[in-house]
Amino acid sequence: MFNEEFQLDAPIRWGMVGGGRGSEIGYSHRAAAQRDRLFTFVAAALDLDAERGRDFGTKLGLAPERCYPDYKTLFEEEAKREDGIQAVSIATPNSTHYEIAKAALEAGLHVICEKPATIHVEDALELKALAEKQNKMLAVMYGYTGFQMVHQAREMVRRGDIGAVRVIQMSFAHGFHNTEIEKNSPGAKWRMNPEVSGPSFIIGDCGTHPFYMAGMITGLKVKSLMCSRQSFIESRAPLEDNAHVVFQFEGGAVGTLWASAINSGSMHQQKVRIVGEKASLEWWDEYPNQLRYEVQGEPVRILERGMGYLHNDDPGVSANRQGGGHAEGFFESWANLYHRYALAIDAYNRNDKAFLESHWYPDIDGGIDGVKMVNACVKSADNGSVWVDYD
Ligand code: NAD
Repeated sequence: MFNEEFQLDAPIRWGMVGGGRGSEIGYSHRAAAQRDRLFTFVAAALDLDAERGRDFGTKLGLAPERCYPDYKTLFEEEAKREDGIQAVSIATPNSTHYEIAKAALEAGLHVICEKPATIHVEDALELKALAEKQNKMLAVMYGYTGFQMVHQAREMVRRGDIGAVRVIQMSFAHGFHNTEIEKNSPGAKWRMNPEVSGPSFIIGDCGTHPFYMAGMITGLKVKSLMCSRQSFIESRAPLEDNAHVVFQFEGGAVGTLWASAINSGSMHQQKVRIVGEKASLEWWDEYPNQLRYEVQGEPVRILERGMGYLHNDDPGVSANRQGGGHAEGFFESWANLYHRYALAIDAYNRNDKAFLESHWYPDIDGGIDGVKMVNACVKSADNGSVWVDYD
């Protein structure tokens, strides 16, 4: 059961870059970080438009002098204060993550960065090395991996309930961009621009989520992949709004990923199905409180969150905030992850390596993997859908 007792000496002073008024994901970061009182929101550079960012920041309760016009000023000015920020979340468009995360780490901050971590693999590797040098946490916001039933699936695979993994089916295929909505939506517009989005649209934007989740649940590493991608809205070319990827994993398992923004009528269709030699598991983010457990030759079982028959929920950060029967959702998943980030930051500050070794959170290794996957898909698809080695 979730422990809401305060486990740090003091809340972590926390800031944001991006996530301004009307942004898609800014509120989710603020809601999750402040949920358990482990982070206090004290400073930000929220918006490309400095004045709008300042106005929004003060209305969120920030002191006007701590609403900065840009991230450089934020890091410089906060470093001069005794009560300056200790951690920052980056919720800006993809192409800016690298330079902002680099500056934040150089300024001695712990960093929570949006996905995809960077555009280029080398940049993500450089950030990892910099975080290690600075002894700072570098997390990547794979926000769906805080759900209790995702952790249940991971534990069931680990303890052998489904046997060796044979097939992984992944999808994140929504219908929200089945017309050219970028004409009237700034948040969609940058996603279709390769200079801001990177070399891919939907594989990076959505495909990275179930890809990370499947790796987290199974621990399997990709050996090679083959990708076919299309731009059904032609003006989006070369960026794809639909893609299919086939994977070969080390050890013999195979898998597929369908990433799409033109799956008309679909809300999310983010599903991960893990097929083992004895049984299969399936999780769907639109029904996050349930996990399908299908044993060959037996009736399908629907496992429900918050129940005593689940594995012993991690006593460090239980994902079970309210007993079974009550629905938990997206914001709980995010809050569970921010809880984990807070404990990791505290351990970094205390140099508690033993804790960090046993404490799970979506870190930069998952970020690097996502960037590698995106780039390998583009290479495969743009060379006639050939198989490409992952590393
Ligand atoms: P958005 O366009 O809706 O909002 C971006 C915000 O960042 C805006 O407020 C903009 O003014 C601000 N901004 C842009 N450049 C800035 C800069 N240099 N300094 C300060 N502020 C700046 O974008 P979004 O949909 O919120 O996406 C932001 C990031 O979050 C993207 O990388 C996206 O992939 C990621 N994202 C992740 C999830 C998730 O589930 N983890 C969901 C949605 C988006």
